[in-house]
Amino acid sequence: MTIIETYIQKHPRSQALFGQAQALFPSGVTHDGRYVTPFPLYVEQCAGAHKWDADENRLIDYWMGHGALLLGHGHPAIVAAVQRQMERGTHYGAEHELSLQWAQLVKRLVPGIERLRFTASGTEATMMALRLARAFTGKPVVLRFTGHYHGWHDLLAHDTNDASAPAGLYDGMLGSTVVAPTDLDYVEQALRSRTDIAAVILEPTGASYGAIPLPHGFLRDLRQLTWRYGVLLICDEIVTGFRVAPGGAQQRAGVTADLTTLAKILAGGLPGGAVGGRADILRHLAFGDAEWNQVRKIRHFGTFNAAPLSAAAGTAMLGIVANDAPGAHAATLGERLITGMNAELRRRRLAGWAVYGDASIFHIVAGCSVGFPPGELDPTAPPDELKRGGDPRLVQLLRLGMINHGVDLMRGRSGFVSAAHTPGDIDATIAAFATTLDEMVT
Ligand code: PLP
Repeated sequence: MTIIETYIQKHPRSQALFGQAQALFPSGVTHDGRYVTPFPLYVEQCAGAHKWDADENRLIDYWMGHGALLLGHGHPAIVAAVQRQMERGTHYGAEHELSLQWAQLVKRLVPGIERLRFTASGTEATMMALRLARAFTGKPVVLRFTGHYHGWHDLLAHDTNDASAPAGLYDGMLGSTVVAPTDLDYVEQALRSRTDIAAVILEPTGASYGAIPLPHGFLRDLRQLTWRYGVLLICDEIVTGFRVAPGGAQQRAGVTADLTTLAKILAGGLPGGAVGGRADILRHLAFGDAEWNQVRKIRHFGTFNAAPLSAAAGTAMLGIVANDAPGAHAATLGERLITGMNAELRRRRLAGWAVYGDASIFHIVAGCSVGFPPGELDPTAPPDELKRGGDPRLVQLLRLGMINHGVDLMRGRSGFVSAAHTPGDIDATIAAFATTLDEMVT
């Protein structure tokens, strides 16, 4: 039986649910990244490092709530905090003390956060960061990097310099961003030649949480460059925050941005985001005199800003990850996984394949057109191939094949290791990878 035939045979209930979903959601899914042919997996329950699908198959989970669940599913301290909060109320329509504890933890952990505002998602956080940068500098344009993802709102939905707008945007919008390669000379030239750039925004470990790694020292050098040209630096730590170090990629690199965006781990596995940074920039969210309010104040609403359940989960989460132990444990397991998977690639002499990553995040590239030796990612590999994980046909087979053998990789090409994974989970994943590779290449 082929990988696809086995997948169909093992997941009749997922297939039936997908049949119903097609009459409800475009392409039957609620998030583009969950789309896969012939049909996506339907999951019913999670605990620790595992999830159970609608056909009662157990999987080792590497989606981990799209990176939100550094402590795994259902960590007892988070469950208890949310249950307690459920009984007290899910929405007060008022300020509440828990939001202060949550914010104090953020402020203590993340460099440069003097003031912050909570949002309902990461997308909202980057949208607000851009608005703050424009309000503070009085300049309209933001420089961003090719392939870096900052949410799906209009301002940052387009990540190439193509002249025509993608569906749903219009050409006039594209002038508000400059899209640059991760090349400091290119950035410097843009900052020198233009006077309308308010800020530079980036994912601090590279596009798609490091699938396209940044050149060595890039974040530090970019900080110097933005200072030199009087342009704000926005660090999008929505994935890296509280993961690569308790204070995120900035703490690890010894860099402090002007503004930082956060989400995912921030809210302990519930919805939530935040934008924080220099008090003089965040002042644009504060009330002042009538004239300030009319000209300078950014309006900020949002029914679920600092929602009590998210505040409860987030406070419990950050209280635990403030001590680096969970992140460090997950990173050690991530290293074990990468080493083991690369050994399987070498054993099969699969040129153009590699597993690589940073801290507890890993990426797989399958069948890259640059046929580097197995397991040795070539820095000249085309960035668009790294971003999609190599050959899309191989990525799909790997995704389904790994599911057949009890492992749910994120989109078939990445994953987040959590503190709930065990060495046994990692070794089982490597074994599933070996078996899937054999099925794919024979
Ligand atoms: N920025 C980065 C770096 C992300 O990875 C994401 C989501 O994956 C976002 C922003 C958007 O966050 P959200 O999905 O909470 O809107």
